Amino acid sequence: MKKLEVCELRIAQELASFAFEMQWKLDLNSEKECDQMNPKKEGRSWKKCKADWLLFRLREETLELEKAIACGTKEEIKREAADVGNFAMFIFDTAKQNRRVK
Ligand SMILES: [Mg+2]
Repeated sequence: MKKLEVCELRIAQELASFAFEMQWKLDLNSEKECDQMNPKKEGRSWKKCKADWLLFRLREETLELEKAIACGTKEEIKREAADVGNFAMFIFDTAKQNRRVK
């Protein structure tokens, strides 16, 4: 995956900060087994997943975020928000690259 330096991006500092947290979570989860990332075990990338499954996972992540907001720490809230952001990004990327939406 190509990574840009933040100075190359003309985006708000808040968005850059969120994107860095999202990347941190992606890197943290990079060793997960295929069946955790992809129900059909077709490879370990969101790029192998259909948008409807990614949406299912996004909903699960929003529940985790809800729990973190209710009784978690600030760090837990940030990390769960990044998970939500990542799954939304996966769906965005799936549609943008014309991969399987359904
Ligand atoms: Mg999570």
